[in-house]
Amino acid sequence: MISSRKIAIAGAGIGGLAAAALLARQGHEVSVYDQFDTPKPIGCGLILQETGLAILAELGLRERAEQLGAPLYQLYGQAVGSGRTVLDVRYDAIRPGLCGVAIQRPVLFDLVYRAAMEAGARIVPSTRILSAQAVSGYLTTGEGKTLGPFDLVVDALGVRSPLSSRSRSPLAYGALWATLPWKEDLGFEKTALAQRYRQARQMAGVMPSGRGSDAAPETLTYFWSIRADAHAAWKQAPLSDWKREATTLWPETAPLLEQLDRHDQLTFAQYDHRTHGPVVNQRLVHLGDSWHAASPQLGQGANMALLDAFALARAMTVHDDLDRQLRHYASMRSGHVRLFQAMSWLFTPVYQSDSTMLAWLRDWLAAPISKVPPGAKLLAAMVSGGMGSPLKKLGLKPGDQSPPRDLSR
Ligand SMILES: Cc1cc2nc3c(=O)[nH]c(=O)nc-3n(C[C@H](O)[C@H](O)[C@H](O)COP(=O)(O)OP(=O)(O)OC[C@H]3O[C@@H](n4cnc5c(N)ncnc54)[C@H](O)[C@@H]3O)c2cc1C
Repeated sequence: MISSRKIAIAGAGIGGLAAAALLARQGHEVSVYDQFDTPKPIGCGLILQETGLAILAELGLRERAEQLGAPLYQLYGQAVGSGRTVLDVRYDAIRPGLCGVAIQRPVLFDLVYRAAMEAGARIVPSTRILSAQAVSGYLTTGEGKTLGPFDLVVDALGVRSPLSSRSRSPLAYGALWATLPWKEDLGFEKTALAQRYRQARQMAGVMPSGRGSDAAPETLTYFWSIRADAHAAWKQAPLSDWKREATTLWPETAPLLEQLDRHDQLTFAQYDHRTHGPVVNQRLVHLGDSWHAASPQLGQGANMALLDAFALARAMTVHDDLDRQLRHYASMRSGHVRLFQAMSWLFTPVYQSDSTMLAWLRDWLAAPISKVPPGAKLLAAMVSGGMGSPLKKLGLKPGDQSPPRDLSR
């Protein structure tokens, strides 16, 4: 029998809302605080991996995510100039039929938001959280209000969390993102994420990203890598200058870019890499990007946040004492978090940095490695998030939730 606790979740993002749904279903009294006035996530696509899909299955949301998302069987990247393949990851190297599901961020947000509401979590908008008292379980807001006391405070405030004592370490590169209608006749692969690189300084990507609703048209997400300190100059220059550069890198994207005529049709996202430690401090616990922020190069952030949310809820069922519950949460997730933070730290500069040497090594080594066993399997395990067996640690088995099936339409 689980004792009901009064829980505050700071941050109604993917991780916070998934945790709210799971904890409220267990009978806890859950309040979720967010600074937004109305829920409005940024509209680019992200990849749900096997890990995140398994947690969505536990939430009863997987089928809907698959219906609205686009199945991805391959990640493929080519260096311009040499034409060398520098990224070739096939999910089926792990298991036939395995794939990722690319989904629009607002679609995923809507699914977990509804699940949290239906489970009975109270979602409180227009509340900017400034600080937390870990010992007594209080939160303070930007309006000078004190909220609580709570038995447990969950920091799900994302990469810029003011509750994280670890200072931010922004990466030099971020990206511009746009969601555009899918065009059938342009020759882009419907079940693959494709990228083009010039060294590691330029990168463009095209990823199918499903639809916003059953009746909505299919979309793709286009992204362009850019140094954060070049973003202001990019905004000042005519958009046509950038389009020329982007279509020189990848001429086939010209018809896509024709649809862009204003800078604000592209959203700039800067990335951080930092790991907060310790993850548990008295009654305060961190989850998602507030614990482990990384560049989206490995496509794991939302999946890791979902894994954290499930781990926290599972830990609440294993012990009765809060201290032991939170230690159990940390022990279930820490190894996987360390592993993926290390891999993201290692691989991000290979695809986004000013280093000529890393790009050169990548161009000459990546393709052969991906063809020699166990290279293909290791790459697929890294991309699918399965390396380090995070599902097993949560008592779930990969492939348990639904049999492998062909999702292509
Ligand atoms: C461009 C881009 C592409 C990405 N692609 C992928 C991908 O392909 N696959 C993948 O798995 N991940 C991807 N990610 C990462 C993924 O989006 C994040 O890892 C994930 O959203 C983290 O979830 P979270 O719940 O920890 O934080 P978030 O989803 O960021 O939620 C944080 C919430 O806290 C609120 N908040 C913040 N500060 C305050 C405050 N002071 N007071 C009150 N509320 C506050 C915010 O409004 C927000 O609702 C990508 C990220 C970006 C930026």
